[in-house]
Amino acid sequence: MKIVCIGRNYGEHTKELGNAVPDEPVVFLKPPSALIPRNSPINLPAFSTDVHHEIELVYAIGRRNGRAVADKVTIGLDLTARDVQQELKSKGLPWEKAKSFDGSAYVADAFTALESFPSSGHTIEFMLKKNGQVVQSGHSGQMIFPVDALIAHVERYMTLEPGDLLFTGTPAGVGGLAHGDRLEGYLLGELLFDLEVKGPASQR
Ligand code: ZN
Repeated sequence: MKIVCIGRNYGEHTKELGNAVPDEPVVFLKPPSALIPRNSPINLPAFSTDVHHEIELVYAIGRRNGRAVADKVTIGLDLTARDVQQELKSKGLPWEKAKSFDGSAYVADAFTALESFPSSGHTIEFMLKKNGQVVQSGHSGQMIFPVDALIAHVERYMTLEPGDLLFTGTPAGVGGLAHGDRLEGYLLGELLFDLEVKGPASQR
């Protein structure tokens, strides 16, 4: 199983980090060891003092007629050590230390089958609350590259297999996490996760 992630796929978020709107999808990977286990809090790593929340639509990949397709959808968190990422970006280096560390990915348990949506014109709304306040909200219609285009693009480089997960980018409103924060994620108005944040002992 692999976790494929897309960066800079929402215009407002791309601008808030001072990046140009990409002319093709930005792709990176997280290993399976990045996944936060069920019933575990978010444990912030000691090597960063600026881990950001990024809520994203996460699609599970299936295959139909020999082709990779988005089968079902949920929400997840692409946790990003922004201080480390800025340093890597400034040196032109890959992002793995900032994006792929243990505990950098959360995927909610409850998926919704995409066939339960009308075939066209639907948008999938999602939202993140931090300590009870809405900090990020968006919907699938705001993606610069929609999920089918992302799958086609990724597959020019690597095969997507059933069970792979595709993170599709975050809307505006990313921000830092601290010990004691609480994150609640909503898909289509329904609460799918409620996670506690624990800082490293050195930052409590
Ligand atoms: Zn992201």
